[in-house]
Amino acid sequence: MLYSRICGLPRRYAKPARRRRARLATALAFAVSALAVSRRAFSAGLPTLTTIRQVLELSRSKAVKGYPVHLRGVVTYYYGGAVPDLFLHDSTGGLWVDLAQGAPSLKPGDVIELDGITEQPDFAPQIGRPSWRVLGKAPLPPAPRVTFGQMASTHEDGQWVEVEGIVRTAAVDPESHNLFLDLGAEGGLITVQTPDARPSLAQKLVDSEVLIRGNCGAIRNALNQQIGVMLYVPNLEQIRTLAPAPSDSASLPVRSIADLQRFSLDQPAGHRVHVRGVVTLDVRDGPVYMADSTGGLYVRRKEHTTLRPGDRVDVFGFLGVVDRHPVLEDSVFQVTGQGPVPAAAQVTATQALHGEFDSALVKIDGRLLQSASSPDETMLVLREGSTVFRAISKSELSAPALSSLREGSLLRLSGICVADTDVTGNPTAFEIRLGAASDIAILKEPSWWTLERALAMGGLLSLAILGALAWAASLRRRVHAQTAIIRGTLDATADGIVVVDAHGKIVAANDKFAAMWNFPELLMAARDHDALLRIAMGQLKEPEAFLDRLRDVFASSDLTSDDAIEFLDGRVFESHSEPNRVNGRSVGRVWAFHDITDRMRSQRDLQQAKEAAEAANETKTAFLANMSHEIRTPMNGVLGMTELCLDTELTPEQREYLDMAKSSADALLVVINDVLDFSKVEAGRLELELIEFNLRDLLEECARSLAVRTHEKGLELTCEVAPEVPETLIGDPSRLRQIVVNLIGNAIKFTQQGEIGVQASVDSVSGDQVTLHLVVRDTGIGISPEKQRLIFDAFTQADASTTRRFGGTGLGLAISSRLVEMMGGRIWVESDLGRGSEFHFTIRLSVGTSPIEQAQPSESSSFTGVPVLVIDTNATSRQILNGILTGWGMRSTVAASGEDALEVLERAAGGGAPIPVVLCDGHTADFLLLKKIQEHPALAGTAIIPMTCVGQRCEERVSRPPGVVAPITKPVRRAELREAIAGVLEPMLVEQV
Ligand code: ADP
Repeated sequence: MLYSRICGLPRRYAKPARRRRARLATALAFAVSALAVSRRAFSAGLPTLTTIRQVLELSRSKAVKGYPVHLRGVVTYYYGGAVPDLFLHDSTGGLWVDLAQGAPSLKPGDVIELDGITEQPDFAPQIGRPSWRVLGKAPLPPAPRVTFGQMASTHEDGQWVEVEGIVRTAAVDPESHNLFLDLGAEGGLITVQTPDARPSLAQKLVDSEVLIRGNCGAIRNALNQQIGVMLYVPNLEQIRTLAPAPSDSASLPVRSIADLQRFSLDQPAGHRVHVRGVVTLDVRDGPVYMADSTGGLYVRRKEHTTLRPGDRVDVFGFLGVVDRHPVLEDSVFQVTGQGPVPAAAQVTATQALHGEFDSALVKIDGRLLQSASSPDETMLVLREGSTVFRAISKSELSAPALSSLREGSLLRLSGICVADTDVTGNPTAFEIRLGAASDIAILKEPSWWTLERALAMGGLLSLAILGALAWAASLRRRVHAQTAIIRGTLDATADGIVVVDAHGKIVAANDKFAAMWNFPELLMAARDHDALLRIAMGQLKEPEAFLDRLRDVFASSDLTSDDAIEFLDGRVFESHSEPNRVNGRSVGRVWAFHDITDRMRSQRDLQQAKEAAEAANETKTAFLANMSHEIRTPMNGVLGMTELCLDTELTPEQREYLDMAKSSADALLVVINDVLDFSKVEAGRLELELIEFNLRDLLEECARSLAVRTHEKGLELTCEVAPEVPETLIGDPSRLRQIVVNLIGNAIKFTQQGEIGVQASVDSVSGDQVTLHLVVRDTGIGISPEKQRLIFDAFTQADASTTRRFGGTGLGLAISSRLVEMMGGRIWVESDLGRGSEFHFTIRLSVGTSPIEQAQPSESSSFTGVPVLVIDTNATSRQILNGILTGWGMRSTVAASGEDALEVLERAAGGGAPIPVVLCDGHTADFLLLKKIQEHPALAGTAIIPMTCVGQRCEERVSRPPGVVAPITKPVRRAELREAIAGVLEPMLVEQV
């Protein structure tokens, strides 16, 4: 009973639980009894129990052993339905017998002799596997009066008892067709069951005072503990009405809700009351709350009737107290109409806690702390002031309604206030029972700033601040490090550096700056600008000019200044200042001071030294020029007189001495001329002339002038001028000759054997300007690469020993080089040590007005097609002569020796085309050869032109054989050669004519 109350379940549902257990018990009993039978056979020693008390007194452990039972008694309850029940009573007590389904039926009052075995599958010992024999009929035994408490004590289980109470409900179970009554007995409610279902009679019982006899049964929980009381009544005759119910329940006087459970002596206790009011809340599967003008009431229904708030109802029920709340139990509702729900009173939590609004409809505001919901129930926890309370809805609130409820929202709830009270009736807490979602109104959305968010934001903020602080710290470290680097850099420079702001105030300066300007450390630290300026000014040679300059510089923010500052103590600073720009904006100026005192000093010294040197050099040059001149004059005298003396009659000894004297004087004159020329060049006094001259003639002259020396050393000297070289040029021929002679002279000097060649060609032509390229080539000792760079300097010789071996001043190339430069060209050497040297130089000259060489053969046109033989042992010479002759249109043939020549001549003569002219080198033109030619019958009439070297003995020319014309000298001059050939050809032409 208690169980059903707590759970709020209708009482009749207690029965099926019993039944289910009974059914289970049956199955179990069957199994156990089967076991028992076998055990009976096995433990046949168990005594047979013959009274009900003996059975009831068995402990559970014994009862399950299956004691045989044989007893006699009267049936006090029999139900043969789906779950049959049989209560048997003897003089010692009553007990439940576990009937198998389909067992023969019995009637209350039947006296039977029963055999069976003891068992206890659940609550109490019982008899299983019964078999009986009906002995007859007997009146039901007298029943002792018991209270609810006794019945609930478990002692009375199975006993035939009598109990008094007021019938609260009466209903027939449609399944079992048994009648169930709720009996309000002293101490509790008893469920009465009887198979004697006569509804018309039963309804009359409601609210009547009755005395009922029946078998006591227990409602148990799963732990086999009794939690309620049943009374199994065999038929309605066992119910005796002590005081009947009012004939018409509607006639019961209506009582105000406030009146209920208030002290009164007039109200009959335990009987039904009639209340009229409006439904305020119908809790699903739970109680109903209603209200009249005097208050609210908690009503528990006998049967579920769906009610809506606002229903006008008459309610009939039994007053009681549940959980310290007045309650109308087992109530029946009669809906009489529908109206508005009464206005809810707006209460505070304090008022609600006070208890005066218990079970009443109220409105209360609170801030939502938490919400939770299940399919059956939604619960909110709210707070108003310091009071926390719950709000519960048995219906699930719609999802959107709930989802919009955010913690912290200020809500207004309208619902039933249910107060909790302590044992003394003082309210301790309250909760609000809600119906629908509409009972919740949101007054105010929660502030975005919830505590959690505030904490989270605070945390984030703290992290951000920590991050910023860490960043700032690292930044500061980096700034310190950078500053240290910058300061170190500034201090590591040789300059004094100062940074000033736009007003000229010092922002930063390195130590050198203070040191250079002799600024005391204290003044620098104090940035005492006036004092610093005073100190600076006091040191300067021109303080006012310095100040003016400062003003100028500051006046123009874009100006970059470079100045020299002179100090009284002789120091000189170079100052450089530039505007200091930050993001393109001028924020001041940076000054750098560099002490250039030493540099200035050395510059000055250098300048003085240079000037002195120049003066000395000039004096020396002038002296040299004078001296050369002075020396030359007497030298001319010496030479002239020596020559005159040589023309006189002299003894061979005197002539030899005078020859030596003359050659020494010649050599000395060369040296003097060199020195004079060099000093002239150095002094810039040498001027070039512009005279028209013939380069070919010039080169031939040079060659000729050196021919003697060449031949003395047994060398071959050739001279080749390219045809494109203009016939006449305008320049300084004597200086050009000087260069060429010097180069050829050197070549002769440094060549022991081989040949020396001079070549001239045109490098480039622009307008009337022609750049000539001249080369003097020798097969001499050569010059090492490192010396090649030096030999064009004055007084330099490739090898100090050459001076001794070859003589010379080391001035020749220096003068040549200067002269070449003056002629707009350059000079260089290409040489292999031991193989010879090639001295190249270029000069720029104007082309002369005379006709060029190509035009000249007109004169020699008579030579065209005339065969000519060149006999020369030197290949270069052969080649050059061949070139000249072929150029004149002659059919030139060359031969390297006399034998070859003879052979050529013979072959030509044999072929019918004899060679009329033979050019014969001095070496080759020995008399033997000449003779052989002349004596040769086929060669008679061949003209032989010998080519002798200058200086060859005159005798050779004098005693020349007939047919041999006067010799021409080598190197051969074109004009001379032309004349010689013409000289031999003319008589032949005359002869032919
Ligand atoms: P020097 O009067 O001594 O000849 P130069 O200026 O004419 O003075 O020559 C400088 C030096 O260059 C010579 O002493 C010699 O060592 C070197 N030199 C010049 N021409 C030749 C050459 N053709 N072959 C080898 N060495 C030469």
